[in-house]
Amino acid sequence: MSNQLIDPFGREVNYLRVSVTDRCDFRCTYCMSENMTFLPKKDILSLEELETICNVFIKLGTKKIRLTGGEPLVRKGILNLIKNLGKKIGNGLEELTLTTNGSQLQKYAEFLKENGVNRVNVSLDHLDPSKFREITRWGNLDLVLAGIQKAKSVGIKVKINTVALKDFNEKNIIEMIEWCSLNEYDMTLIEVMPMGDIGSENRFNQYLPLSEVKERLSKKFNLINIPKKTGGPARYYKIEGKKIDLGFITPLTHNFCETCNRVRLTCTGILYMCLGQDDNVDLKNILRNKGSSFLEDSLFKAISRKPKGHDFNISKSGINISSNRHMSVTGG
Ligand code: SAM
Ligand code: SF4
Repeated sequence: MSNQLIDPFGREVNYLRVSVTDRCDFRCTYCMSENMTFLPKKDILSLEELETICNVFIKLGTKKIRLTGGEPLVRKGILNLIKNLGKKIGNGLEELTLTTNGSQLQKYAEFLKENGVNRVNVSLDHLDPSKFREITRWGNLDLVLAGIQKAKSVGIKVKINTVALKDFNEKNIIEMIEWCSLNEYDMTLIEVMPMGDIGSENRFNQYLPLSEVKERLSKKFNLINIPKKTGGPARYYKIEGKKIDLGFITPLTHNFCETCNRVRLTCTGILYMCLGQDDNVDLKNILRNKGSSFLEDSLFKAISRKPKGHDFNISKSGINISSNRHMSVTGG
């Protein structure tokens, strides 16, 4: 048997996203309700358990690990996990990276760089302080911008993730592209996905098809399709005259699954083989009740069940939560 994780469709699974916590210091309206109930601490994998599972993935061919959350940099002790995983770079692992809201970057960018993190994705949906506060509820734009700047200054490549939101930032996307280009940050636009209950907010009201955004951008810019293959869901474009690769993640208007190389581990040790499907394997249970020596076999079995694709759906009247999991639990 090959020592690599290959799914029934011949896709090599070599990218692991790990949500290290479901907690966050922001409350973005499309991600969480303001009064989120977080998971009990006993259900959360310890940092040692997270590391054990990551190491088994690395042994089985995982080349890239992305830490996410919730906000990965607010998890107590996270720097230790980053340090230990950083040591695996060049030793099976090729890349350790993070998706972060940027609030802690000013403090930690230097440490990240020293421990092998060369790229981060930072979520930023608006450049206006009050709009930023409105969408994140608790976020401070100045702090995030300072964090992004700090990351850049220590040599970390920054990519900006922006969720396209109807009547919120649709008119500001051009301004954000210009800002990213000026600072040489790549940018990815994301369609809002129906993940988890978000309280009184209605997702249909937030949903802005990226096909519309792209059409509008095409009137202003010359978008040149580039065959950038990250194995991820984004389609990339260069913009003539701008220093930026612009990605579009369109789960609701396109199927992006054919080259999917990733799986997701929640902070409670549940492995999801697809962001948009509920089939999963409880690795915490295996680790705590059987022992780490059973993980390898469990991973092979899990990957043999990786589905071909997902089935998101959003509509005005219908149930718009196609997955009950919050993005902060599964990890964006
Ligand atoms: N807290 C970190 C952050 O915001 O970057 C990492 C976790 S967050 C869940 C990861 C990404 O998921 C962010 O870029 C966020 O904008 C995105 N996200 C969260 N909920 C989403 C949703 N319902 N639809 C689309 N993107 C979402
Ligand atoms: Fe927190 Fe990220 Fe969700 Fe915003 S998108 S609430 S920053 S986990």
